[in-house]
Formats: sequence, structure tokens, C-alpha cells
Amino acid sequence: MIKNENPLLANSIWSATANDRVVGEQLSSSKQFDVAIIGGGISGVSVAFHCALLGINACLLEKETIGWGASGRNGGQVIPGLKELPEDVYKFFGSKMGKKIVALAGGAPDYVFNLIKKYKIECGASQNGWIQASVSENGLQKNRSLLRQWKEQGAPVHLLLAPEIQSLIGSDNYTHGILDPRGGKLHPLNYVLGLAKVAQKKGVAIYQECPVESIESNTNYYKIYCATGQVIAQKVILTTNAYGEDSTGTRNKNIIPVQSVQVATAPLSDNILKTILPNGHVVSDTRRLLKYFRISEDGRLLMGGRGGVSNRGTSIQIEELKRSVSKMFPITGEVEYEYSWGGNVALTLDHYPQISLFDNGVISLSGYNGRGVALTTILGKVVADLINNVPSEDLDFPIKKLRSIPFSQFHNFIIPFATWYKRLLDNIER
Ligand SMILES: Cc1cc2nc3c(=O)[nH]c(=O)nc-3n(C[C@H](O)[C@H](O)[C@H](O)COP(=O)(O)OP(=O)(O)OC[C@H]3O[C@@H](n4cnc5c(N)ncnc54)[C@H](O)[C@@H]3O)c2cc1C
Repeated sequence: MIKNENPLLANSIWSATANDRVVGEQLSSSKQFDVAIIGGGISGVSVAFHCALLGINACLLEKETIGWGASGRNGGQVIPGLKELPEDVYKFFGSKMGKKIVALAGGAPDYVFNLIKKYKIECGASQNGWIQASVSENGLQKNRSLLRQWKEQGAPVHLLLAPEIQSLIGSDNYTHGILDPRGGKLHPLNYVLGLAKVAQKKGVAIYQECPVESIESNTNYYKIYCATGQVIAQKVILTTNAYGEDSTGTRNKNIIPVQSVQVATAPLSDNILKTILPNGHVVSDTRRLLKYFRISEDGRLLMGGRGGVSNRGTSIQIEELKRSVSKMFPITGEVEYEYSWGGNVALTLDHYPQISLFDNGVISLSGYNGRGVALTTILGKVVADLINNVPSEDLDFPIKKLRSIPFSQFHNFIIPFATWYKRLLDNIER
């Protein structure tokens, strides 16, 4: 169970099967570091790890425990690329920066799997490929576009048509898709715990159960007040993503938090496992409110999708996921569900992650739009390069002034309407 979480979101398979947690020091009194990183998900851990590689004296401050947020709860799908396709990236960022970003995001899964191998991180990782599945004509067009644009980049993507996609997934629900062998899967909580332990061995101080309560900026340094002590640092990196709060100065004002939920069946029989995702692929589909699924190491089917904004909405979405499993995979019969959980995803208006400079000089890394496992890791390296004074024109991702999204107090009213509208469009196109 995820501690200090709403029970509806807390019964996670990853917490139930986690390796030993990170043992850190307790922050007491006042400590000094070059860099303080706030938020112990993959973003924060990756920044800390890459700082340690560069010999930068860094500490990581986490409100709960490492991986408590989205990083320890996600689908563990390691997906290449950004939500937007290469041509859109070129248009949005210009051709020079666009080229760097496309290469960075396309190569992010390789970067993750190599790190795991190099540092022997035990997290059930396998790079068997990611399928983006589609049902509608619109989905097929999206996939054809993805295929053409990534092929132009030299990526090894293939088009899948029925019946091939149906036998690779084990369901006749989808009629087409693409297979990108760069993708894969891992146990997300064990990945972030493992990377944090490597960072710690390399000298990063990790303070857990250490909520940041305020950030004071002075001329040459910051003072960060935590529940049990303070940290003085030259630079502050905010990696709270969709979990920050206004009251503590840790909220990312450039993102909209929305919930994603997942369910996990009881372990399936070997006969059933021979038919569902038999080659170990992970899948997400092209719908606006997408579904994503995979098999876990212990043979369970995990299915995820958009959550709600209230407990009632979340419960409805959890039941809807169970119905989707029955509909897509009737072979599972009257299967039991042993886990259901969820967490917050950070959406940005332009669908791109952002490295943002706040007015007080704090730098934040956020906004992965539900595709953060690989991007957090690689962008953490970019932020460490920035801290190490690499000139911004030589970085592989731009640093921009924070662009706040207005009317944040109304998001909880707007999201259900936006979700309803997207579901309507998905159903019309089906
Ligand atoms: C259910 C779900 C499924 C997903 N599936 C996938 C997937 O399959 N593939 C994929 O690529 N992406 C997926 N994502 C997205 C991915 O998980 C995120 O993009 C990524 O984990 C973001 O990592 P992060 O480190 O930026 O943020 P988080 O992991 O959310 O970490 C933020 C941390 O900040 C801490 N914090 C908050 N306030 C404070 C404070 N005041 N002081 C100290 N610490 C604080 C929190 O406790 C938290 O641990 C999914 C997300 C969810 C929720």
C-alpha cells in the first residue's frame, strides 16, 4: 500500500512487490549543498544522479519516500519519443533545437535500458518493444504519420495490420498499429529506487519524509525550510511535477494535474499468457483518452487509463478498466482483481515537457503528459548539464521562463467537461 495516500489510489502492485526502500539520513539542523533538488521521483533522482557523475554536491528532498509519486506508480512503459511527432517538434522548437530534441527523446529508452544494465538495477527491465494500437481511421492516420516521420529519422518502426496486431496483442479489439522496438517495460518503483541507491553511493544526500515547507531566495543562495531542518544551496531544482503545492512554493504553475488509474488482475494461467502479449510488448492506444496495458513479471494483466476528479469518478473509472479487460480479452473470464491504484500525471498546454526558470531563479523540470519514464531520466541529465554551466545553446533541450497556466483554481471544474468531450470524440470515431 502507498502510505499517506487516498485508499482508492493506494493499492499498488509496485508497492507490494518493491525492493528495499532507500535508507537515507534524517535532515536535522542546517546543511549546505551546491544544489538542492525537491521531489524524489525519477526526475529528481535523475538530476541528482547526473549531478553526482559531474562531481556536484547535491541533496534530494522528498516529502514521503523515493518513488512515492507518479514515478513509483506508473505503467512502467518505456516509450520512445514525445507525444508530438518529429515534424511538429521541428516546427515548434526550430530545426536546430528540434533535431536535438527528436534525437534525445527517440534515444531515451536506450539511455534508460543502458543505465539499468550498467548499474545492475534490478527492476524487471526488458526492451521488447512498444505498440501504439489504433481502432479508428483517425488512429490509423496518426500511426501512418508516426511511421513515416520516425522512419525518416532512421527509427526501426513497423506498421502492424490485422491479423498481425491481433495476434501480438491477443485481442481483436485493434485493427492496426505500429511497433517500435526501442520501447520496453520495467518495474517503475524498483527502477527509481535502484537509481536513487546508485546516486546515493555516488555521494547524493537523500532526505526522505522531509517535506519542503518554504523556499527563501537570497542574493547568492537559497534557504529551504523543511519540517526537520534547513538546507542552504546555490541552486534549487524543483521536480515535484504534478504533486507540488502553492502553500510551500513547490507547485509547477505550467502544468495541469490529472489522474491516471490502473488495475492488475490476479496472475493469469500459462495458457492465457501464451495468447495475451506473448512477445512481451507494452501497448498504449491512439485514443484521446488512451488505454495502456502490459503483463507484469508475475503474469498479471495491468490495464490503465484516465482517472476521475472525485472518489466517485475514480471508482467509476476503475470499474470501467475492469470492463475493458473483459471486453478486450474475453479469455480472462471471471478474473479477480488484486490491485487498483492511481496517481497524478502533469499535462502541459503544448504537450511538451518543460525546463522552466521561475522568477526567483528556481529551475523546474515537469510536464511529461503521461510519458515520463524515459523522458524524466534523459531530461534529468540535461538539467545536470545546465547546473554544470553548459551554455544553454549547447544543451539538448531549451530552458524557458515559466509560462503559468491561468485559472488553476477552476481546473477541477474544467477537467470533467474536457474529459467528457474527449470521450465523446473517441466514441464517435470508433
Ligand atoms: C498511473 C500512471 C501511469 C503512468 N504510466 C506511464 C507509463 O507507463 N509510461 C510513462 O512513460 N509514463 C507514465 N506515467 C507518467 C510518469 O509516471 C511521470 O511522467 C513521471 O513519473 C514523473 O516523474 P517525476 O519525478 O517528475 O514526478 P513524481 O514521480 O510525481 O515525483 C514528484 C515527487 O515530489 C514529491 N514532493 C511533492 N511536494 C513536495 C515537497 N513539498 N517537498 C518534497 N517533496 C515533494 C512527491 O512526494 C513526489 O514523490 C504514468 C503516470 C501515472 C500517474
